[in-house]
Amino acid sequence: MSSYVSNYVGGAFASPASVDTLAITNPASGEELGRVIMSTKRDVDTAVQAATAAYPAWRSTPAPQRARVLFGLKTLIEEHKEELALLLTAEHGKVIAETRGEIQRGIENIEHACGMPTLMMGDTVEGIAQGIDSESWRQPMGVFGIITPYNFPVMIPLWFWPYAVAAGNTVVLKPSEQDPLTHQRIVELAQRAGLPPGVLNVVHGGRESVEAICDHPGIIGVSFVGSSHVAEIVYRRAGGAGKRVQALGGAKNYLIVLPDADIDLSAAACHDSIFGSSGQRCLAGSIVIGVGDAHAQIRERMLDQAASIKLGDGLDESTDMGPVISAEHRDRVKGFIDQGEVDGAKLSLDGRSASVAGLEGGYWIGPTVFEDVSPDMSIGTEEIFGPVVGINRAKDIDEAVAMMHGSQYGNACSIFTTSGKAAREFRYQAGISMIGVNIGVAAPMAFFPFGGSRGSFYGDLKAAGKDAISFFTDQRVVISRW
Ligand code: NAD
Repeated sequence: MSSYVSNYVGGAFASPASVDTLAITNPASGEELGRVIMSTKRDVDTAVQAATAAYPAWRSTPAPQRARVLFGLKTLIEEHKEELALLLTAEHGKVIAETRGEIQRGIENIEHACGMPTLMMGDTVEGIAQGIDSESWRQPMGVFGIITPYNFPVMIPLWFWPYAVAAGNTVVLKPSEQDPLTHQRIVELAQRAGLPPGVLNVVHGGRESVEAICDHPGIIGVSFVGSSHVAEIVYRRAGGAGKRVQALGGAKNYLIVLPDADIDLSAAACHDSIFGSSGQRCLAGSIVIGVGDAHAQIRERMLDQAASIKLGDGLDESTDMGPVISAEHRDRVKGFIDQGEVDGAKLSLDGRSASVAGLEGGYWIGPTVFEDVSPDMSIGTEEIFGPVVGINRAKDIDEAVAMMHGSQYGNACSIFTTSGKAAREFRYQAGISMIGVNIGVAAPMAFFPFGGSRGSFYGDLKAAGKDAISFFTDQRVVISRW
């Protein structure tokens, strides 16, 4: 394992202009795993120059040949899957079954991007006017900047860069500075797969490098995933600089359980949604609403299940839930729990004093359950991004949907029911972008677009799906008379 994570520019692991570094720790122990370079504006410029230089030759490389490099990368990731999963758990903390799943989801995006020669086909109409034919061509656009968060450090970069490069663009990627090790390994595998120098460049760092990407005149478009606060900053700043932008933000996801639901299946799905990855998923459920008689039943099961969670090192296969990413984030989550109590919510399970024997340096926070959470409390409105849930009651589905619509966010929501009619009406009324029906984590697969609405998303084209092809290409239309 590399103890020093440096930038990757023009096909080489580069010596950056910056000497500033940040510690990468194992969240389960607090142990330092390595250090990452905190790049400067000058480092971003060097990477953009490398990407710009590589663009003409990469653009003129036939599309099937570009895709072939990604086929090679997919095979290499599959061969190294277990090694990557172990590294990902060590730097992120999520349990090993979850890291295996994350890598698989990343592979699926590469597989989808491998179809680019078909996906980027244009349209033609013969005789669009008298003696005139028209056609559209999807062409790459240049250098794209991609900025990603800590919670899925393998999968989220793969929502973007394989599509961008398969379409003939070149890329400057800025991964999260909190857990950059595993994706760095994937970049090494991409190099081995034959991705030419300069096609994918990686600049590590934080705010300074993000701002430099937003401002750089050599970057044509920016893909961002992270908190809504930063998504809005990136959307305005990069958009103001004339770039195409897609910025995916935070969430507060509602899980609604109707009286006719299969309570056992619903409780299991809600439990996984809320506590999986220690609540650090943009699709994590954070408020469960039991409608009518469902409330007492779901409440009882949720409390039983939450109380039985085994905290521990994610590398131990018997662990149910790992730590959160950092001491700072643990303290932020605890701050929300403190405030929830002050605001008068009923704290039915308190994870603040959690610890794991032998791993006292880890960033632990146990499952936490509130009841009677109201929309004027910060735990009712803000994204907590930890293993904390509010369980509420609604008299009917209309009241439950109204509570959900009170949220500023619109990322995901789920309904649990055995009624097709209720599910269909919910889909119609939800007004939220990713909808689960008897599914707690409404995660679109690579072939569908991933992204929210309202305060969860800034832009129009989302990640992956057909949107990725539209985002990373421009449609050029030719009308001709011969
Ligand atoms: P974050 O916003 O703190 O960081 C995201 C990226 O922005 C990182 O690369 C970081 O270096 C950079 N950054 C941080 N602060 C910045 C600033 N002030 N100016 C410029 N750049 C800055 O997010 P995070 O904590 O890494 O990730 C968790 C967040 O991401 C949650 O809000 C979660 O909901 C969201 N998320 C959303 C989706 C989605 O699909 N909508 C998916 C995953 C995560």
